[in-house]
Amino acid sequence: MLIVMQAHATEEQIRQVCARVESFGLKAHPIPGSIRTAIGVTGNKGAVELGVIEQMPGVAECIAVSKPYKLVSRDIKEGETVVRIATPLGEVAFGGGNVAIVGGPCAVEGPEQARAVAALVKGCGARLFRGGAYKPRTSPYSFQGLGEPGLKILAEVRAEFGLGIVTEAVDNESLELVERYADVIQIGARSMQNFSLLKHAGKARKPVLLKRGMSATLDEFLMAAEYVMAEGNYNVILCERGVRTFSDFTRNTLDLAVIPAVKSRSHLPIIVDPSHGTGKRHKVLPLSRAAIAVGADGLLVEVHNRPEHALSDGMQSILPDEFTQLIAEARQIAAVLHRTIN
Ligand code: PEP
Ligand code: MN
Repeated sequence: MLIVMQAHATEEQIRQVCARVESFGLKAHPIPGSIRTAIGVTGNKGAVELGVIEQMPGVAECIAVSKPYKLVSRDIKEGETVVRIATPLGEVAFGGGNVAIVGGPCAVEGPEQARAVAALVKGCGARLFRGGAYKPRTSPYSFQGLGEPGLKILAEVRAEFGLGIVTEAVDNESLELVERYADVIQIGARSMQNFSLLKHAGKARKPVLLKRGMSATLDEFLMAAEYVMAEGNYNVILCERGVRTFSDFTRNTLDLAVIPAVKSRSHLPIIVDPSHGTGKRHKVLPLSRAAIAVGADGLLVEVHNRPEHALSDGMQSILPDEFTQLIAEARQIAAVLHRTIN
């Protein structure tokens, strides 16, 4: 259910309505919009008796939401959500015409590698650094990430270069540590339907970058975001990273058509990961250009100073010069669409 407040409703009226909703054992989610606040109601198993709420001061109307996702939906917010990340180098925004670039290696391999890649990411003008300390690998014998020592290296990168940190949590235990060290908590494709992890991320106080599962439908993807938002964390950035198809010339098939599909259904920002989306270095630049052109709110790109020695995903990691080129081209394409890279 959705409670639409009048444009001139006061803070106190909004608070009273939320309190009334919660007195029924339900959860109220006030979401401010450009004109008025809407209050999403979750936790109801069936229809809610609206009469009493509709009579309250400041309430314009109560609407039953038929879509399975509610807080994620455009019904609750007509404008776009802008997720803002405060980095020592300044704020980076996703959404609302702001296109953000996140660059870095697949995995944190050690302090020298992390520092070398961070220097080039910063040198190219990006302010968000990615790198996994916990790696979800297909084989238990592959490099699993450095764990907490890897997070400490990321914290050093943040302190030395001023870059904001995006890194993955693979379970509830790592999530607690990631929340402490990072600026953005990444939930990987393989964890998109780890509902316990999604609920924990929903209770975290850091923004969540949620990747689409490799076989997830659009509804499943949006419902995963709903899990996070239902717990009260409204700072969710969606990420398309390719899905499994019969196509065998790429690691995954990058589903760029999902960008306008998400935009028509949800107010959340959505970015594209062309690295996992293609699995091939030479395809990363062309698909990055296409992602910006189709309206993505950002890119998440794997970059490595010595990809031939990378402990994971070297084949899809672009070289420093390619990252420089990618940002320059993305800037030009974004400008055509009256959007800015930040
Ligand atoms: C990653 O970003 O390195 C990663 C493991 O991605 P995904 O979850 O999309 O496979
Ligand atoms: Mn990777």
